[in-house]
Amino acid sequence: MRDKTLCVKWPEVSHEGFASLAIPTYRASTIVFDSAEAYANRKYRGPDGYTYGLHGTPTSRTLEASITALEQGLRTVLVPSGQAAITIVFLAVLLPGDSVLIPDTAYPPVAGFCENYLKPRGISYRIYDPMIGGAIAGLIDPTVKLIWTESPGSTTMEVQDIPAIVAVAKSRGVLTGCDNTWATPLYFKPLAHEIDFSSMALTKYVGGHSDLLMGSIAVKDIDLYRRIKDTIRMIGLGVSPDDCALALRGMETMGVRLGHSGGVALEFAKRIASRVAPGLVLHPALRTAPGHEVWKRDFSGSSGVFSVSIPAHAEEALPDLLTAAKTFSIGASWGGTHSLLAPMTISRVADANAHPGTILRISIGLEDENDLWADLEPIVNVIASEPAIARTA
Ligand SMILES: *Cc1c(COP(=O)(O)O)cnc(C)c1O
Repeated sequence: MRDKTLCVKWPEVSHEGFASLAIPTYRASTIVFDSAEAYANRKYRGPDGYTYGLHGTPTSRTLEASITALEQGLRTVLVPSGQAAITIVFLAVLLPGDSVLIPDTAYPPVAGFCENYLKPRGISYRIYDPMIGGAIAGLIDPTVKLIWTESPGSTTMEVQDIPAIVAVAKSRGVLTGCDNTWATPLYFKPLAHEIDFSSMALTKYVGGHSDLLMGSIAVKDIDLYRRIKDTIRMIGLGVSPDDCALALRGMETMGVRLGHSGGVALEFAKRIASRVAPGLVLHPALRTAPGHEVWKRDFSGSSGVFSVSIPAHAEEALPDLLTAAKTFSIGASWGGTHSLLAPMTISRVADANAHPGTILRISIGLEDENDLWADLEPIVNVIASEPAIARTA
């Protein structure tokens, strides 16, 4: 071979005796075949075979297999974001004339997708009270093909009675999905509760370092797997093997990160709850939390995100107190090593009067907890102080 060819074709080297604990990052667009016949028959390799880089490399398959094992599923599909993990399920399941039920507490862009993308295409949706439980039967008409759940709910942390919802859905032939980002399969296993699609924003705890975006959909039915895989193939979605390698690295430490962050978050939630008015601290492990009994029954732990409802008298002081925080950063997304504060205003449909004010979402990372508490304490002091109006009344 001549020099320019030698620049392109690398020599094969031995792998014998090489054993590493790291997962190799296999990058590929083209997959090459041994023979013209193998190339001609590539479609018979099925969704698990290797045919094109977009559809998977050994690096992405390793991440998929590892999530499948944790979720106790059959297959996992990776997509470029947590939001895509939700929308792809909707796109794979719903046809014009169908409808989907979503909880009031779903990750907010889910309702946006239903209103602005699905509705103009003839797919309708209905928002339900996350605490509805088995009474969801009353919302199921023949158009309903999918019930989406998220437990605990985004920001306000209501825990849903998944077994009760699934029992109704099964009896009516309706598919179910659950956004399991908060608990991760370490603390809750939706598929073990007969949910059909368990999704996660790997962006959060699996990635764990605020530097990657990815989502996963785990299933325990091979036909549902094919439907999801076909949908992303037709749309042309795939994930980068470099991001998969980062996610695999994040996964290795997820157990200890969650254990630590969850412990500090629960300790802070209890400490804050002991000082402020009842019901202001929104954490599933507190007795006052909506769905606490369900959380105790179905979950095996709590992760590092919880919220505090800010009473009216503390609203004005909050922005300056947040800006003054030294260890916490201000920002959305969560689940990383850096602790975050995010002041949220939320709108609820099922109960329009619920949570009218600011809700402070707190994500605990890995910093020293005394430094974190030094940032939170002044905020808690303001919340705990009696409002001037109440004093003079
Ligand atoms: C962040 C988040 C998502 C979306 O994940 P992205 O990767 O940011 O698209 C979905 N669901 C929940 C519960 C989330 O917290």
